[in-house]
Amino acid sequence: METSHPQALFRLDNETLAFRYTATVSHRTGDPLERLDDPVKLRQWLAANDLDPGVIPTSDQLDQARQLREAIYRLGATLADGQPPAQLDLDRVNSAAAAGTPSPVLDADGMRWSLGSEDPVGAALAVLARNAIEVLGSPTRQRIKTCEGPDCAGLFVDTSRAGARRWCSMNTCGNKNKKDRLRAKS
Ligand SMILES: [Zn+2]
Repeated sequence: METSHPQALFRLDNETLAFRYTATVSHRTGDPLERLDDPVKLRQWLAANDLDPGVIPTSDQLDQARQLREAIYRLGATLADGQPPAQLDLDRVNSAAAAGTPSPVLDADGMRWSLGSEDPVGAALAVLARNAIEVLGSPTRQRIKTCEGPDCAGLFVDTSRAGARRWCSMNTCGNKNKKDRLRAKS
């Protein structure tokens, strides 16, 4: 497996797994950047999130993975916007959640996912789809927002008590906003 540092390739700072996955496209309202541009990158992203399938996905699986990702993104963005979800997107997330058979394993370090050997890529995608269902289907759904960072529109869950968070991450978009404001002042 290629060893280029996943932190350099991907933004992994979103606390919500499913939304961290949707962040593999950045600059969504500007000039979108697709970070899963080949199957090896998908495996790298999965591995960086403790979901290494142990195999390089096929290009069909990469297509499915991207379609799942965009369905999750649209569902999150429509919820944030107070709009009803598209049935096609609900169907896609639900079928991805049911397709694989990941099982949770408890060991000394905590919990991890066992992806099995039959369809480890499908199982990894099922973990992402199930996380999306938990977030999009629980009371958390009322705290889903899209980032106000320039061109970002990334999804995040606003867990702040005041519910006034505006950026997907303080380290990136929040920081950028702060710098821009300081520059505007000087
Ligand atoms: Zn952002």
